[in-house]
Amino acid sequence: MYTVPKGTKDVLPSESYKWHYIENAVRKTAELFSVKEIRTPVFEHTELFLRGVGGTTDIVNKEMYTFDDKGGRSITLKPEGTAGVARSVIENSLCAGTLPLKMYYISPIFRYEKPQAGRLREHHQFGVEIYGADTAECDVETILIAKTFFGALGLKNISVNINSIGCPDCRPLYNQALTRYYTAHEKELCGDCKDRLQRNPLRLLDCKNENCQKLQPPKITDYLCGACKQRFEEIKSLLTTLGVAFEVDTNIVRGLDYYTGIVFEFINKNIGAQSTVCGGGRYNKLTEDLGGAQIPAIGFGMGLERLLLTLDDAGLLNISDKTAKVYFAPIGKESVVKCLTIVKTLREKGVSAETDISGRSLKAQMKYADKISCGYAVVVGGDEISNDSYTVKNMKTHESFTTGESGILEFFANGDNN
Ligand code: ATP
Ligand code: MG
Repeated sequence: MYTVPKGTKDVLPSESYKWHYIENAVRKTAELFSVKEIRTPVFEHTELFLRGVGGTTDIVNKEMYTFDDKGGRSITLKPEGTAGVARSVIENSLCAGTLPLKMYYISPIFRYEKPQAGRLREHHQFGVEIYGADTAECDVETILIAKTFFGALGLKNISVNINSIGCPDCRPLYNQALTRYYTAHEKELCGDCKDRLQRNPLRLLDCKNENCQKLQPPKITDYLCGACKQRFEEIKSLLTTLGVAFEVDTNIVRGLDYYTGIVFEFINKNIGAQSTVCGGGRYNKLTEDLGGAQIPAIGFGMGLERLLLTLDDAGLLNISDKTAKVYFAPIGKESVVKCLTIVKTLREKGVSAETDISGRSLKAQMKYADKISCGYAVVVGGDEISNDSYTVKNMKTHESFTTGESGILEFFANGDNN
């Protein structure tokens, strides 16, 4: 028997309505903020991620699905959404148009990680990218998109943790301070962090190892330059004014190299170790790093599997799948055509209707109608057809009424009788 590859999951027909629910909330929120969808390929040239995501990140070092295609090109399955969008922005000169350019995507993301709850090898992200504005208002708008989206799903109390990781002016000084601190504590570091210390000390703050997390390195907020400090203060003040709950967490650096300035995470502490549902930040140097002009940009990525866990945990997934409005049960061959005809007409009028396509007995059909939780059932036999008189039964209340074929069409097409 074949099984799905480790770390991947099917979305089964009985579960897909939950994904539609989330995807609808994404589109509704995007509309509120005039954010347009962008779709980029599932794979890109490997070089894009080496340059865009950064050679000192876990993603590039350990997690990418990279292979040579038959033409000998090195290809990588998207390990995150931002680099592909940046590539498209540059390639299609998207910033030559109206700015700010506000985009979102819903995309599968591939990372070779140790699978566990909330950590998969293929997961899905809703991401937002805003190009062409470099202000505290834009930073806050980005956070508000995520916050509004959570609100639309009923998650009102999720709070955002923010930090600033500075700019190329203030980062070197902080890097020096980190290097001094961690060198003094080198014996306590995990193997990976010893290596990170040589290559990019900021990465140590992102280590998941418990011993490394116990250390108390200098805080970036004490090293910010005047402009970064002022921006961070403006962001905090705007969030406060707008009533957005937040905490400053100086340990947030995010797992990607491209960030500058504000970084943020939305956390749900109840879903276990993999608690970060959404992470984002500003990356003003990314397009330049990828060979384009410098365009300020900010964005976030949200893990939809973790979001589903969060919603479930908060009891907010009490939604149900859509069901057929009415089931027509033919008795005998001659009634089948009548049922098919009525069902066809109803569907043309936009009404979800079902009839027997399995050749089942009436009893089995009624069981089926019950199982699919349809709103009404109509039994169609020879007498019903010749008298043009059908009994429409409400499956929940068990009340019924009798009407002709045109009455049936009128009743169900009218829209608000479920
Ligand atoms: P983590 O620290 O948990 O590894 P990350 O910093 O690697 O997360 P990002 O690159 O910021 O995560 O991705 C954005 C979001 O995508 C995360 O906040 C999380 O919700 C989700 N995510 C990341 N990796 C996975 C994964 N392997 N499986 C499921 N969801 C994931
Ligand atoms: Mg990760």
